[in-house]
Amino acid sequence: MRALIIAEVIDAKLKSSVASLVAAGVKAAGVVDVYLMGNAEAAQAEVGTLAGVENVFVNPDSGENLMTESVTNAVLARAEGYTHIFFDAGTFGKSIMPRVAVKLDVQPMTDVIEVIDAETFVRPIYAGSIEATLKNEQAVKVATIRSTAFDPVEKTGNAKIEQVAAMAEAMKTRKVSFEAVKSDRPALQSAKIVVAGGRGLGDEAGFAALEALADKLGAAVGATRAVVDLGLCPNDWQVGQTGKVIAPDLYIAFGISGAMQHLSGIKDAKVVVAINNDPEAAIFEVADYGLVMDAKEAIEALKAAL
Ligand SMILES: Cc1cc2nc3c(=O)[nH]c(=O)nc-3n(C[C@H](O)[C@H](O)[C@H](O)COP(=O)(O)OP(=O)(O)OC[C@H]3O[C@@H](n4cnc5c(N)ncnc54)[C@H](O)[C@@H]3O)c2cc1C
Repeated sequence: MRALIIAEVIDAKLKSSVASLVAAGVKAAGVVDVYLMGNAEAAQAEVGTLAGVENVFVNPDSGENLMTESVTNAVLARAEGYTHIFFDAGTFGKSIMPRVAVKLDVQPMTDVIEVIDAETFVRPIYAGSIEATLKNEQAVKVATIRSTAFDPVEKTGNAKIEQVAAMAEAMKTRKVSFEAVKSDRPALQSAKIVVAGGRGLGDEAGFAALEALADKLGAAVGATRAVVDLGLCPNDWQVGQTGKVIAPDLYIAFGISGAMQHLSGIKDAKVVVAINNDPEAAIFEVADYGLVMDAKEAIEALKAAL
């Protein structure tokens, strides 16, 4: 058995989730190769050290302007001989994985959160309220992996690095520009601390206070869909089923009720602290520490204490 991991390069660096995808690949297949979708030197050097990786195939493109169709074709051209082909369960992986699966004529699996053995996988269903165990006996297991559910492998490996041919452009379309939201705060999905606000924070002033607290803590800011829909904060802050799935060491929720769709995004947070003025709020059922208090007052008290 052998797994192929499709690894992304972002801003000339290896996407931080790749070490966790490799962990999933090692658990499923024992031996792992990585197809690196960008030629940045730092990414090549880092991926080569990931424990369990035997071969790294490097796409000579910078990785910044790849089109879904050409990446799909490139993965298909390299797919032979692999028992498992794993993608990150982010936007990039989710756009390519189904195309690869349909061309290989296999039933794909999405959002895998546990690998039990080479053929047995766990994934959440019903917005994360139930975990389904799947038996997959197809010759090739094609899946997106939720990296937050897997501990990254150590950097003790020494893989062989091979440059491969450029991807032929499959489409008559090309990417003209790409604009990412720039922020001095840590990225939501890799931040060690996330402070998040919900409707209980009330208004813009509540979110301004939350941002000031985030900056004191070196934290990222998250939000519920309710406040994103109200226009109180940008939609890339949304955490949950239709937002981002995060796994910080510490998650502090201010004025968040704890709806199932929100909780499915923080399932892997290590420590959850909830501040809500309703002692019956559902968030207290999953919180490690709870405080029944006004959310804005709690933010001010925390800022003063810090
Ligand atoms: C298909 C679908 C997908 C969805 N996806 C997502 C998703 O990805 N992410 C997401 O978050 N939601 C999602 N939702 C919405 C979700 O169901 C909830 O409606 C939403 O999470 C609620 O947000 P909230 O906790 O901010 O608001 P509310 O549920 O209104 O809760 C506000 C909380 O604040 C507390 N509060 C009020 N005043 C104060 C105060 N002064 N101090 C302290 N606490 C106070 C209240 O007691 C209450 O618990 C989705 C829904 C659907 C149907």
